[in-house]
Amino acid sequence: MVKPADTPMMVQYHEIKSQYPDAFVFYRLGDFYELFEEDAIQGAKLLELTLTARNKNSENPVPMAGIPHHAVKNYIDILVDQGHKVAIVEQMEDPATAQGMVKRDVVQLITPGTKMFDGAGSDKQNNYLAAILPSEGTWVLAYIDLSTGELKATTMHRFSDVIDELRSLEVKEVVLRKNDEQTTRQQLATQLGERGLVISTQTVIGENATVSFLTQPLIKSDEVSATAMLLNYIFDTQRRNLDHIVPAVSYERLTYLKFNQDTRTNLDLIENTRTKKRAGSLLGLIDATHTAMGGRLLKQWVLKPLRDQHDIESRLDLVQAFQGDFFTRGALQDHLKSVYDLERLSARAAMGTMNARELVQLKRSLLAIPGVKSVLSETTSILKATGDQLDDMVDLAGLIEEAIIDDPPISVREGDIINDGFDEKIDTYRRVLHDNQKWLAQLETDERAATGINSLKVGYNKNFGYFIEVTKANIVKLEENRYERLQTLTNAERFVTPELKEHERLIIEAQAKRAQREYELFVTVRERVKANISRVQKLAQQIARLDVLAALADVADNHRFIRPTFTEHNNIAIKQGRHPVVESLLGAGEFVANDVMLDQKTNMQLITGPNMAGKSTYMRELALIVILAQMGSFVPAEYAELPIFDQIFTRIGANDDMAMGQSTFMVEMAEANHALQEATAHSLVLFDELGRGTATYDGMALAQAIIEFLDAHIHAKTLFSTHYHELTTLADQHASIENVHVGAVEDDAGQLHFLHQIQKGPADKSYGIHVAALAGLPDELIANATKILTVLENQKIVTIAPQQLETDLKSKTDGLSEQVALFNIDVVDTETKKLLATLDSFDVLKMTPIDTMNALNTLKQLR
Ligand code: ADP
Repeated sequence: MVKPADTPMMVQYHEIKSQYPDAFVFYRLGDFYELFEEDAIQGAKLLELTLTARNKNSENPVPMAGIPHHAVKNYIDILVDQGHKVAIVEQMEDPATAQGMVKRDVVQLITPGTKMFDGAGSDKQNNYLAAILPSEGTWVLAYIDLSTGELKATTMHRFSDVIDELRSLEVKEVVLRKNDEQTTRQQLATQLGERGLVISTQTVIGENATVSFLTQPLIKSDEVSATAMLLNYIFDTQRRNLDHIVPAVSYERLTYLKFNQDTRTNLDLIENTRTKKRAGSLLGLIDATHTAMGGRLLKQWVLKPLRDQHDIESRLDLVQAFQGDFFTRGALQDHLKSVYDLERLSARAAMGTMNARELVQLKRSLLAIPGVKSVLSETTSILKATGDQLDDMVDLAGLIEEAIIDDPPISVREGDIINDGFDEKIDTYRRVLHDNQKWLAQLETDERAATGINSLKVGYNKNFGYFIEVTKANIVKLEENRYERLQTLTNAERFVTPELKEHERLIIEAQAKRAQREYELFVTVRERVKANISRVQKLAQQIARLDVLAALADVADNHRFIRPTFTEHNNIAIKQGRHPVVESLLGAGEFVANDVMLDQKTNMQLITGPNMAGKSTYMRELALIVILAQMGSFVPAEYAELPIFDQIFTRIGANDDMAMGQSTFMVEMAEANHALQEATAHSLVLFDELGRGTATYDGMALAQAIIEFLDAHIHAKTLFSTHYHELTTLADQHASIENVHVGAVEDDAGQLHFLHQIQKGPADKSYGIHVAALAGLPDELIANATKILTVLENQKIVTIAPQQLETDLKSKTDGLSEQVALFNIDVVDTETKKLLATLDSFDVLKMTPIDTMNALNTLKQLR
């Protein structure tokens, strides 16, 4: 990159830039960070900087844009938030004493995944950076939140699971091994769309002491490698102490109730899909936490409910204990209000960026812990033990309390940090300062008296130091040579005396020494915090957990939730279940509670009923109750008995995307296929109006085939809502299928009223025409539709039992003229015979929905 005409500085710049081709290089030059060449051109646009040029008059001027150093943080934030990387290049020696070119180097690379948050605000978001390492048919995913130190690794067998985890964690940046960058990047782009995901690569995978220490808990060697790669990337880019990183934890997705991004969206778990806000989501409803750590933990619990009954019950035990003890809960939460973000505070202590204010925040947090302990210890329930386990760290809190003043400045270099009486030297310097200030005040009084000039004053100026100031008008009153002249202003003269100079020297010396000594002591205290990081982090986790459990007890009280029980008998018994979010959006008492009853023999409910009756609410409600129960929360019902589920699958299409036609239908089928491939007898499947995206017969045939496939092969507990009333006859043919419907009543005036009540049996009528009438369609049209419906109903199109299907098709190939109503085909010509022969070759019971789709397509081609 070095060009012949380059100045030594540009040579240095190019050397650095060539190591960071994909980052904006912020090159420190005096009080500015300069961007050069392409960076300057792009940066000027993105950051609205003035684009100038270096060596303007030369043959090739260098485009340049400057950022004042004190404002650099904002500019970095803008670029990084837009998915860019920024390399900060500092002067590594003092320009005043440097020989030749000042040495410069990159001190930090800031990327979307390594961006740190300021201070300890109440931020309930994690910021994850992930690494992906492919290995013989599996993928290892390692991830870290640099701001909290959390480090995790897991092995996955499918790339789609990796994608799903990346989405769930909202990862913005992924580190790939240089060797397989291309292939993995390609896969990521195909499945995720590259937009929004920053890709970084790492070549060196060193095994130093820190890496070994942090990967030591991992057993699988691939997980060690992936985590080491991630850590190396971080150490390379961050170049500072990161002692707060917690040794890696390996986790198995099997431990958790699994569901994918579609389900998270369909159920509005984290945000409301329509508004993209937290309000109107499950998390929004149940987040009654009081700390940022608790907020982050609760979100993790929602996204990863458990499968181990023992673990679930121990959470529930604590929620129950809190629920039954209103006083303890309230008192605990009062204390929690003064707890700051301990995880992020420890990170800042480790990196040496913690200032005195944050030390005070840490102290305030720690001072709340004895209160928490005593509140819990005074109980007689299991809460007592949780209190006893807390380390209140009085030693550390005491040290900060003694050393650091309560309201210190942000700057740590200018003193006013250490308490009086903490250090003899500081006290001495302060005394010297005090005495000298007094002397200055006295000087002013004395000199006014001596000169008779009442406006005479003693002042201070950064450049000239202390002075005596006399206004021009009063100069005449001053006896000659009383003072030495220092400075002439428009309206005044400034003077000094040898004594004043001497006192100034004493003041400056004392100030400098005091600031230095204060800084040293501050650093000692900060180092003590750093040495105790793992204790602070453990405490942070315990506090987060208590916060979440108490919050869940609040939610249980405020929204009338009850403790669920778990059964090994594969039955669901929910009495008076409610959809908590829909309920909270409706007026008091407006939500109609429903039972969800599927006994051991019943695996599927076919739900019929008019649009807007509450079918999908009922379905979502079950999924939310399952998620709440397995994350250790109480649930919105009067009684709930549930099996422990391994996975949840949902296919719930919004009306509007149904209108988009063909491609949406493909998505619908792909999602259905995903469920059929992955679901087990322990899964929960929710299919809402499956098959609606295509023509009626296609859709109905597919819906029936899918229902029968689920029934024959999967045995998952399934809720299947449909507007094909014909499908309700399937319940007669399959013992594990049951019909329910959402009730609606027609009043005397023919008006339809939704009861939102789930009732046994199929809906007896399609209320579509009523709904259309409600929507105000013309009377003539409604009357016509009613007539057409009567004709169609008289044709009696019904579903076909599997045995029936076989015989019917056979009889047709035999040339009989009987018609199969479903396909309505004339059987005489040879083409149709071919068609039927093909049909006959399909083994319906063994076909997956995709097979069915292909089969339908083959048939269509034959026509
Ligand atoms: P469907 O799936 O049958 O078209 P939805 O489940 O989308 O109907 O419900 C439509 C609307 O009816 C919901 O937005 C909600 O306002 C209301 N609703 C649904 N279920 C209930 C219920 N159990 N109690 C009260 N209102 C309900």
